[in-house]
Amino acid sequence: MSKVDVIDILKKSDALLEGHFLLSSGKHSNRYVQCAKVLRFPEYAEKVLRTVVEQIKDLNIDLVVGPAMGGVIVSYELGRQLGKETVFTERKDGEMQLRRGFEVKKGAKIIIAEDVVTTGKSTIETKKALEELGGEVIGVACIANRTNDDIGMPIYSAIKLEIQVHDANNCPLCKEGKIELVKPGSREFK
Ligand SMILES: [Zn+2]
Repeated sequence: MSKVDVIDILKKSDALLEGHFLLSSGKHSNRYVQCAKVLRFPEYAEKVLRTVVEQIKDLNIDLVVGPAMGGVIVSYELGRQLGKETVFTERKDGEMQLRRGFEVKKGAKIIIAEDVVTTGKSTIETKKALEELGGEVIGVACIANRTNDDIGMPIYSAIKLEIQVHDANNCPLCKEGKIELVKPGSREFK
């Protein structure tokens, strides 16, 4: 499946909106992404994540780990397609942890699963937690890669997504005045 098809599926499921958006930071953007929207449809999740599986299937992965919430469904679907064990980490007392009796075998090759990677902060934190348990994190698999900088591990994504973000007082979309500024559905706003 080509990149165009991935974009098409993200748009069809309203996971990717194009226009003029007011972000929670107060800045304005030309695109808004909410990957949970595409994961509503298992058939779409399967198709989009198959493009990621193609990139990671020969890496001899032992375990797929998705940080909650965003990574849980992505992790499950990747594990299903790879035929590998899949667990999740979750934040407790502000710290990313492996709970519920989930285990990491010493030297296990792990891929982290995320819906979207932006700054990579939570991914890096998850990597550290898993390495302290003896795992070997070989990268992160995600639907959308929004990074601008190296996050210290390979990123395998369905789509590299460019989103222009502007300060409210210096926004070309405001200056053009053609597209109304909207706040994406605030209940799922993140
Ligand atoms: Zn604007």
